[in-house]
Order: sequence, then structure tokens, then C-alpha cells
Amino acid sequence: MAHINQNFLKLPGGYLFPEIGRRVRAFSAQNPPMPLIRLGIGDVTQPLAPVVVDAMVKASKEMGVKETFRGYCEETCCAYDFLRFAIQNSYKERGVDIADDEIFVSDGAKSDCGNIGDIFSVDNVVAVCDPVYPVYVDTNAMAGRAGDHDGEKWTNLIYLPCTAENGFFPELPQGKAPDLIYICSPNNPTGTAATREQLKVWVDYANAHDSVILYDSAYEAFIREEGIPHSIFEVEGAKTCAIEFRSFSKTAGFTGTRCAYTVIPKALERDGASLNALWNRRQGTKFNGVPYVIQRAAEAVFTDEGKAQTKAAIDYYLNNAKVIREGLTAAGLTVYGGVNAPYLWVETPNHTPSWDFFDLLLKQACVVTTPGAGFGPSGEGYIRVTAFGGADATKEAVRRIVSVL
Ligand SMILES: *Cc1c(COP(=O)(O)O)cnc(C)c1O
Repeated sequence: MAHINQNFLKLPGGYLFPEIGRRVRAFSAQNPPMPLIRLGIGDVTQPLAPVVVDAMVKASKEMGVKETFRGYCEETCCAYDFLRFAIQNSYKERGVDIADDEIFVSDGAKSDCGNIGDIFSVDNVVAVCDPVYPVYVDTNAMAGRAGDHDGEKWTNLIYLPCTAENGFFPELPQGKAPDLIYICSPNNPTGTAATREQLKVWVDYANAHDSVILYDSAYEAFIREEGIPHSIFEVEGAKTCAIEFRSFSKTAGFTGTRCAYTVIPKALERDGASLNALWNRRQGTKFNGVPYVIQRAAEAVFTDEGKAQTKAAIDYYLNNAKVIREGLTAAGLTVYGGVNAPYLWVETPNHTPSWDFFDLLLKQACVVTTPGAGFGPSGEGYIRVTAFGGADATKEAVRRIVSVL
């Protein structure tokens, strides 16, 4: 008789987005007075850059010609040289030296963040920020590293509160050091970005305790302020304690196209083993690479035209973020984030519970947001508003929100 992985039964069952969907459907069924504006979902809306589309068309045609057809990608790290070297060069432009065989191309930062657990012991103690991108929590729960869910928290996870008091960046934990530490910057959901000094504290801590930092910089391209590192490898000492996840999803609108990469320095060893070698072994066994056509599309992002065109899309979202930030702040709300990220983390007025404020905005303003409590206990008292909507819809949403406060 086959037995299941019992850890799956411990999962509280995708509570956040299904519950939002349920409330939105129930409200829509009552014929709302205005069309809904959705500022809840973390997906891009601008189309792919023309230079990316051209690269895909050209590569697709090559696949239909015998001489230029490609089968399995046999090259290092499941990535064609042209893409690995383009990524390596983009690090070099920021003064970071990464060897090309430290870069693993994949179909997503979500899958890499989840799959990376394969190379670590199930006995490792995991620390996550609170609020948090749910993928880090649920994948560790599936692997058996999270313990049991007590209705609010997982018993074996260390939660690092990120609050207004600490600038939404975690303080070092007291007591026994966690083995694996997830940090996401610029942050989903709080929209804040870590400074070099803040990251240095964690890098030193991880090196001192032989922990590993799993650094998610999926929103790196949204950084606009000087002095905010785009990569954890801009911080001295990170190469002996950090793995970095990046993605073309938010930087170039690839959420439906699928391409990402993970950097594991060869200097990173634990138990005398190279984590780069373990991940290479893992990927070589369980993954057969990203399509040639998609790798060509990703390569185009790094051309001069590609940089200009993808920057224009991000500027569009960041302008939405500015509209939201300024509009809600002027109306008396306290708003964080949205400067180096497409997310705004908005304090609910008068400590209203976040689901109640979500319901109020849904029913009175016909605007869909995300209740902060869905991202962890420290998200209570906040809602997340995203800048991925259309410019006109975003302005209208702000006008409506302000009118119901
Ligand atoms: C959107 C997002 C990603 C990107 O995931 P992909 O699988 O590459 O699309 C990664 N991390 C965070 C925090 C995100 O919000």
C-alpha cells in the first residue's frame, strides 16, 4: 500500500487567495454599483517588450530548420552560454564577479525557492520573515521542516517579525541560530528594500553560525534609490553564506513566459560539500532546462533595447505606486513601500483588522486589495496594494478608496 507524504495534510489549505476569491465572487454576484478594480494580484499586466518578442519569433523559426534545431540543452547548468554570459555580465556591471557556472537558469524563482530544500537536511531549522511570501513556508512544511500548524503559526519555524518599528527588516533572533534564513528584498508583501548595512548584519551572522541565507531578489529591477544593493553578493562575505534567486517574471513581464536563475557561489560549502555541486546534481537529475526559445527571449532583456524597453514597463508600475502612495498618504493613511517595489503596505485606519478593511474597500469602493494578515501574524493591521494595474484604473482606485475613508 502506498502511503502519502503526511506533511501535506498539515497544510492549512491555501487560505489567502482562495478566500479573497470567494469574497470577491460573493460580492460580484450582488451586482456591485461599479466595476471592480483589482489591486490585489501580484501579476504583471504590461505586454512583453518588442525586442523580447522578436527574439522569440527568430528562435522559434530556428527550431523549424534542421541545421538550427535544438533538443536537450547539454550545456553547463541547463543554460545556453549566451544567456549565462549575459547574466554574468549584468552582475559585472554592478561590480559583482560571478563565475558563469555559478548561475543556474530555471523556469522560475518560485520553483527554485521551493526546490532548494532538496539539498538541505530535513532537520535544518528555518527562519522566515513575518509577513512572508507563502512559498517559503509551505515548501518547508511539505518537506517536514515546519512542524505542525497551530492555527496561526508553524511550531518549528522561527518567525522574524517585520514591523514599522524595525523598518520591516528582521532583527537577529535570540537563542539558537536558524540554519536556513529566507530574506526577500525588495520585499513582497511590504514593498520595502534592505540597505547594504542591514544585509551586512545578516551576512556576518550567517557566516558566524554556518547558516545559509536564501535571498530572493525577484524585484531587483524595481530598485530606484542609490545605495540599495541589487544583489546580496554586493555585500562582503555573502559568497560563503548566500544563495540568490532572481527571475525575469517581474523584471521583464515573464510571469507567463517562465525564466529565472539562481546563483550559488562555489565558495559556499556546508558539511564539507559544495552547495553548487549539490544543486547541479539535483537539477541535472530532476530538471531538463528552459526552452531555447525562452532563453533567447531572456537574453534579449540584457540588450540595450531590452534594458530600455523593460525599464519603461517598470517605470509605468512605479508611477502607479507613486500615485497610490501620494494619494493615500494625502488622505491621512500611513503607507510604506512602493519606492523600490511594486507593492504598498498600507496601515489600516484606527487599527481596523485587515480582513475588515479589505471588506470595506471591496464593498464600498469596489477595489480588491490583499489583507496583510494573510501573509503572517505581523501583517495584521495592514493591507497590500499592488501597482500592477492600469494607470487609469489605479488613479480611479485611489479616488474611490479616499472617498470611503
Ligand atoms: C513573483 C515572485 C517570484 C517570481 O516567481 P517566478 O516563479 O519566477 O515567476 C519570486 N519571489 C517572489 C517573492 C515573488 O513575489
